[in-house]
Amino acid sequence: MEGDKTIFSMIIGGELPCHKVYEDDLVFAFLDINPFSPGHTLVVPKEEARTLDKLSDESSGALGRVLPRISRAILSATGAEEFNIIQNNGPNAFQSVFHVHFHIIPKMKDGRGLTFPFKSSPIDHEEAERLAKSVRELLD
Ligand code: AMP
Repeated sequence: MEGDKTIFSMIIGGELPCHKVYEDDLVFAFLDINPFSPGHTLVVPKEEARTLDKLSDESSGALGRVLPRISRAILSATGAEEFNIIQNNGPNAFQSVFHVHFHIIPKMKDGRGLTFPFKSSPIDHEEAERLAKSVRELLD
């Protein structure tokens, strides 16, 4: 816990209203107030971590366990067959509420949902191998 109370902590604590879709001991999920498509849902750990890298293994595991199940329910409820999961960390990475959350965003047949200005470029294999080695070592 970082003790960093945000609007999401107030929602989890019942101090602010929301359209709740799921709750267990470690996870809370509710509809986004400004949805990209109907059923756009935020899945939030109760733990007050700002970004995913700060989250405990326990809360991470709890989120991972329920994300597919909540996604299935959202697909059934909206009739969507496709969806995006997005998770932003830091203001330059489009995070606006500093309490870890995963967006589940149904992609509707009419196009509503997430649209991305995705930009990529071909991998530099030398740099990639250096990076992969460094990450492997850090994860050991
Ligand atoms: P992000 O930009 O990834 O930090 O996403 C924050 C999300 O929280 C945005 O999609 C907002 O629409 C949503 N949001 C902010 N306040 C509320 C609220 N009171 N209830 C539901 N969703 C909210």
